[in-house]
Amino acid sequence: MAQQDSPVMLVTGGAEGIGWAIARRFAAGGHRVAIADLRGEAAEARARELGAGHLGLACDVAQEAQVAAAVARVAETLGRLDVLVNNAGIADSIQPTLEQSGEHFGRQLDIHLKGTFVASREAARVMLPRGGGAIVSLASMAGMVGLPRRNGYGAAKAGIMALTRSLAAEWGRRGIRVNAIAPGYVRTPLVEALEREGKIDTGAITRRAPLGRLARPEEIAEVAWFLASPAASYVTGITVPVDGGWTAFGAAGD
Ligand code: NAD
Repeated sequence: MAQQDSPVMLVTGGAEGIGWAIARRFAAGGHRVAIADLRGEAAEARARELGAGHLGLACDVAQEAQVAAAVARVAETLGRLDVLVNNAGIADSIQPTLEQSGEHFGRQLDIHLKGTFVASREAARVMLPRGGGAIVSLASMAGMVGLPRRNGYGAAKAGIMALTRSLAAEWGRRGIRVNAIAPGYVRTPLVEALEREGKIDTGAITRRAPLGRLARPEEIAEVAWFLASPAASYVTGITVPVDGGWTAFGAAGD
């Protein structure tokens, strides 16, 4: 059971995949965890799984008013906010560019980039008066290298890296550190859905990645935990690739 006065973290999209691994990691580290997800009932069920003192709530990160209400509810219910992890995301962008609509492109920006901006702004309203906090956002290697057919997704994730730098520059002296993680392929329901639809080839991914496998969600959660912790007290404004060496590997093979 979480202690009444322990730190509070909020993770968006925390009902599944990487977000759920992050929720578990912070709960194990003594945080009271708020899970905000499009699927409110799933978020509540996950919070119950973590035990007493945690909170699950419905929130679509693409809806500004819902994000503001979710952050306010966390602050009211749990009394503080120390860490925000912007994780909510979708992966329905992998289709040929000529078949992509502007609406589709905009939806990627709304969920990933605007959602991260609005949640960070709302979290800062709670964190700044208390002297600070930490924000960690999920970018992607798709924001660092060109992956075909991921236009909106890649642009949104590159935008998250730029946003991370500008927020870090603005809030550093006021005690908020802002960082991002750029995962490679992680075995989550999102990636399994792409695999089922034949949109990605995990065999080819495994051959391409120097570490020779996909990541486990827990391997991303550990880096989120580090970036939000006092161990990273002089780290701000960066994006850490956690991609099994994918973006470091430029040649065709050995
Ligand atoms: P997932 O599909 O397994 O889980 C995503 C969660 O986010 C779900 O619980 C879903 O309900 C929730 N969600 C979706 N849209 C939402 C919205 N509008 N508002 C609130 N919640 C919403 O995904 P995942 O693989 O765990 O990915 C998590 C994050 O990591 C995403 O931002 C994704 O882009 C990023 N990422 C994933 C991978 C990967 O290989 N899995 C790689 C790089 C980056």
